[in-house]
Amino acid sequence: MSNQTAERVAWVEAEVHRHAATILSAADRCPPGGNREWDGLLALYRVTPQPAVDRVSEVMGRRMIRGAVPTEVRRALESVASWARSELQQLAPLLPTDPHLRAVEDRIARLGAEADRYESAAAPPAAPSVGSIFANATATAGQAPWQSVKVPASTVLVCGGCGAPQQTSLDFRCRYCASPMGATPS
Ligand SMILES: [Zn+2]
Repeated sequence: MSNQTAERVAWVEAEVHRHAATILSAADRCPPGGNREWDGLLALYRVTPQPAVDRVSEVMGRRMIRGAVPTEVRRALESVASWARSELQQLAPLLPTDPHLRAVEDRIARLGAEADRYESAAAPPAAPSVGSIFANATATAGQAPWQSVKVPASTVLVCGGCGAPQQTSLDFRCRYCASPMGATPS
């Protein structure tokens, strides 16, 4: 077995770990639906950002109070997984029975579970039960049922300061960075 090949496997493993941590921590710290920093990170992983209106729909549908939308987080992690798999495919013929290579394959497979975890954590634990949604149908009108929330594109603005997508709701200053909504970035 080539020592260089074994080192390459270890490098792939370290990179998977590093990129997953980068994606998850960046996703966690952005305003609901993301911002320009998150867009930049998606570009690095060659993931196309969703339109602002879809981001807001997902944020409302999941009643998220912060963080990038799980759909995009999953795509970014899938991009890392597919890069890492292609690296390992090149190394596998050189290390046919290497247990470390198998372990790294397992690590890559766990990226899917990390996306699942992010998705479950994105919904606040205090989300009302289906029963209370119907009991408060008037109070929650426009929010429920979560899965079918449709936000008209015309009511979504993107913050000129940080790029966070937001519904207008008569609030023309960004809740996250206080820049005027809809302004052209300077
Ligand atoms: Zn902002």
